[in-house]
Amino acid sequence: MQKILIAIKDNFTRNLYKEVLEKQGYNILIAEQEDKLLVWTKLENPNIILIDIGFFRQEDFEKQFIKQITDKKIPVIAFAQFQTQENKERAMDLGAKDFISSSETSPAIVIRKVKILMGEQRTYQVGINLEDYDGLKLVKDILGRESITCPKCNSSMVLYLIRDLSQGGNYYKVSIKCPNCL
Ligand SMILES: [Zn+2]
Repeated sequence: MQKILIAIKDNFTRNLYKEVLEKQGYNILIAEQEDKLLVWTKLENPNIILIDIGFFRQEDFEKQFIKQITDKKIPVIAFAQFQTQENKERAMDLGAKDFISSSETSPAIVIRKVKILMGEQRTYQVGINLEDYDGLKLVKDILGRESITCPKCNSSMVLYLIRDLSQGGNYYKVSIKCPNCL
């Protein structure tokens, strides 16, 4: 099940988002303190973290958190009460990919933003047939050779489609890799 870690100070807001996202079938983890946030991020591998821009009191914890989300590539949505320029800049400092505010973002929009970010992580592995259509041409263009046999392990390589919603609607990165060696 996909996990969302919520690190929001305000009880009411935290419970509201917890309830709304649980109804969508997500598993919700709550961090009320900085050290707990770091432990959950490390051990639970959440798919998304929802974080209050004012969550960190200690700079050291914040630095560790940013390193964790960067290393693990966990998308972060920043939360603030108001959508001011200052708050948005603070969200960017925290490495956030999106921003929500309790005064302007409805729960429905929060759900949409979460789903978009979940989708961003989606990868498809697609089989390649060199005989059909442009299979061979595509393999030649991407790999620079006419074979999809992995040079390391001799198994067939596959086409990887990686959805990248940060580039807009239906944007996919394409590569050909060996599923065993990657
Ligand atoms: Zn291989």
